[in-house]
Amino acid sequence: MTKSHPPRVVIVGAGAAGLNLATRLSKSLGRKNKADITLVDENLSHMWKPSLHEFAVGNKGNDDEISLLAHSHRHGYNFRLGRFAGIDREKRLVKLDTVSDPENRPLAPVRALPYDVLVLAIGSRSNDFGTDGAADHCMMLDTPTQAKRLQAEILNLFLRLETGALGDIDRIDISIVGGGATGVELAAEIREATQHFANHGIEKLQDPKVVHIRIVEASPRVLSALSEKVSQKVTRHLEELSIEVLAGARVERVESHSIHLEGGANLPSTLTIWAAGIKAPDVVGSLDKLECGSLGRLKVRSTLQTTKDERIYAIGDCAECAWAEKSSFLPPRAQVAAQQAEFMERQIREHVSGRKLNEFEYIDRGSLVAVSQEGAVAALMGKAIGTITFEGWLARRAYRYLHFRHECSVQGRLRALVQSALDSAMKRIRPRLKLH
Ligand SMILES: Cc1cc2nc3c(=O)[nH]c(=O)nc-3n(C[C@H](O)[C@H](O)[C@H](O)COP(=O)(O)OP(=O)(O)OC[C@H]3O[C@@H](n4cnc5c(N)ncnc54)[C@H](O)[C@@H]3O)c2cc1C
Repeated sequence: MTKSHPPRVVIVGAGAAGLNLATRLSKSLGRKNKADITLVDENLSHMWKPSLHEFAVGNKGNDDEISLLAHSHRHGYNFRLGRFAGIDREKRLVKLDTVSDPENRPLAPVRALPYDVLVLAIGSRSNDFGTDGAADHCMMLDTPTQAKRLQAEILNLFLRLETGALGDIDRIDISIVGGGATGVELAAEIREATQHFANHGIEKLQDPKVVHIRIVEASPRVLSALSEKVSQKVTRHLEELSIEVLAGARVERVESHSIHLEGGANLPSTLTIWAAGIKAPDVVGSLDKLECGSLGRLKVRSTLQTTKDERIYAIGDCAECAWAEKSSFLPPRAQVAAQQAEFMERQIREHVSGRKLNEFEYIDRGSLVAVSQEGAVAALMGKAIGTITFEGWLARRAYRYLHFRHECSVQGRLRALVQSALDSAMKRIRPRLKLH
């Protein structure tokens, strides 16, 4: 490290892991001039990814995003807008591609940022496993832009139905491929949205049968990564919401208005949303010989350093980190991202002072799945309590607490409390869903 400037720590990705880490590091190192902290993202705002399905039905909007320019100014780190495009490990440079506005005018040019320590936190993308037609005919839910597009698509579909613009079609089929937490939560959120729109002028939706929602899952049950008990409870909730669960059904091909299952079944589908599985963003595969694992994620050691370069760390969904307890890898979850961000703040302090590095240990605190605005199923774990499964209002509160904790980490407790109080007040005076 050169002596002329404080060590340059560059974090790429302002998501659940990256923004949390930048906030923590600015406080412990940046503000004390012990390191220069820079956060890079291709978007100007942060949207907490586990809420994307709520953005996708209009339950959340622009007010729920965090401006990265304002956040960096308040917390004292540098924010750089740019699309991460690669690394030059020898020169220690992060390569950024241009980001353009919707009219294709460049907002940020091609650039290179020097680093002494680099943390990659660029998340993941949906994995369609090369399924025929999926890329062309499915909507995905990976980014704020996709969430906003899906919101417009769903609203426009309901409007067309109401106004007769769909012609003879009097039933909408919405298929969600993938019965993990994302698919389940999205299906429940769309069902609640239909009820809401029915009460706000789209009268044809008064009959719940007009919008048929189905989840297509290849495993024998939804939420196959969680316990059978949680899966059964969630399936029951889904049935109560008139959501069809097609478990043990593998999608073979997707067409513009239908999906074909292995074994020959052909299902009508006005709108198909792909929410099955994840993989690392493509750029990860071309990172100056860094080692990748099965889903294209960056292989990391227990210190969270990438296996080929001690100055480069990877955290969150884009990292493949061993989970010794389960003889597998840590799952792509907000809980992992948050724990790794917290750990990395200490780790970077050790790194820049040349002290011995620590080993990351994940503590699984359980799972929470929301199946409507007031319903949720929780399986909480702890050494003292074992596993407790519960549902309903309390589980929903626990689910909201997850987001509140993230807000406390990145905004500070006071700001998070004020924001939460304002949200509750606004929900009482304006429609729950965005209707435009
Ligand atoms: C709909 C949905 C619901 C979910 N629900 C839950 C849940 O209930 N509980 C749970 O634990 N997990 C949930 N998850 C998973 C959770 O959101 C992720 O595990 C978590 O967000 C991972 O954090 P991350 O920081 O690694 O990535 P992200 O939060 O995805 O952040 C990645 C960041 O990198 C930026 N980025 C990506 N590529 C580039 C590039 N080339 N250049 C510049 N910037 C880039 C992105 O803009 C983004 O800001 C859900 C996911 C989805 C999609």
